[in-house]
Amino acid sequence: MAVDADHLLANPIYDPMRCSIGFHPLHEPLLFPLYLALCFIPKQWSSERAVVIIRCIGLGLLIHMGLDAIDCRINTGAWTS
Ligand SMILES: [Zn+2]
Repeated sequence: MAVDADHLLANPIYDPMRCSIGFHPLHEPLLFPLYLALCFIPKQWSSERAVVIIRCIGLGLLIHMGLDAIDCRINTGAWTS
């Protein structure tokens, strides 16, 4: 949920009828491949504990974007803004 800190850059900070995907900086679809890549970083890149944490962050970001996309669909009828 820390990724929603980018809502602080918007005015108003929260708008229930606004689609986060494609509006907020960390919700840009161009970043989704990066979030996916975090899920598959090689074990050799760092300690096993750090790799697990980074992979979980990537998975959490993907789940977050998926849920935001569903929220967009429900609230605005569109998958993205
Ligand atoms: Zn979000």
